[in-house]
Amino acid sequence: MDIIWLKEMSCPVCSGKFMSENIRQNKLAQIQVDEDFHTHFDPLSPLYYAVVVCPDCCYAERRQNFEEVKGKTLIAVKGGIGALKQLSAGFNFRLIRTFELALKSFELGALTVQFKGETSDVIGGMYLRAAWLCREAADDKLEQVYLRKALEFYEKAYMNEATEFGQLGTCGFQYMLGEIYRRLGNDEKAMELYMRAVANKEIRQKPQVERLAREQLSALKEKLKTP
Ligand SMILES: [Zn+2]
Repeated sequence: MDIIWLKEMSCPVCSGKFMSENIRQNKLAQIQVDEDFHTHFDPLSPLYYAVVVCPDCCYAERRQNFEEVKGKTLIAVKGGIGALKQLSAGFNFRLIRTFELALKSFELGALTVQFKGETSDVIGGMYLRAAWLCREAADDKLEQVYLRKALEFYEKAYMNEATEFGQLGTCGFQYMLGEIYRRLGNDEKAMELYMRAVANKEIRQKPQVERLAREQLSALKEKLKTP
C-alpha cells in the first residue's frame, strides 16, 4: 500500500474541485524528536502535506480545519483571495508537493488564518512548521527566517492573548519561546524563558516539558560558564 493516497477535495471558499495528497501516518517511522518537539519521520515528511491549498483560489488551511469556514469568516477569506493569489504567483498547487510548494503552503496558511481571525499562536504555528521544513532540508538560513516570523507571532500571543496554548500549557509555551530564542542565538532571552517555565507551578503536570526545560536550562548555564 502506498504511503501517499489522493483524495478529491471541494474548496469551501470557491467550490473548486481538486485532488489532494494525503499520507498514511501509520506507514511512517518516527526517527527523531527535536528539543522544540519537531518530530522527524522516515521515509516522508508529513509537513509536506499538512496544509491543503486550493489550486484555484489559494485558500490554504491545516487539513483538519480546511472545511471550517462559513459566515463572516468565509466573507473575510473571500476578501483575501486577491492577496492569497498574489502570494502564490508562479506556484502550481495541482502539482506533486515539492519542498518549495510545501514551504509556500505554510505561507499561504499563515495568511489564510489571519483572514480567518485566528489567534497569533495559530499564525506562529504555521511559520514554526515552515522553519521545521527548512531544518529537514538542512537550510539553516531559511530556518532562521521562519523562526523569526514564528517568534514574532508567538511573542504577541504570549503578551496579549489569554489562550491556553493548546496541549503545551503556559509553561510549555514559555519553554518553546525560550527554545526559539536559543535557536536564534539569543541566549539571555532563552535563559529567562527557560527559568520562567521551570518556575511555573503548572510544569509539574507536564513531565515532558519539565524534563526538556531543565535539560536545556542546565546546558545553557554550562555553555555560558565556559569562557
Ligand atoms: Zn478555492
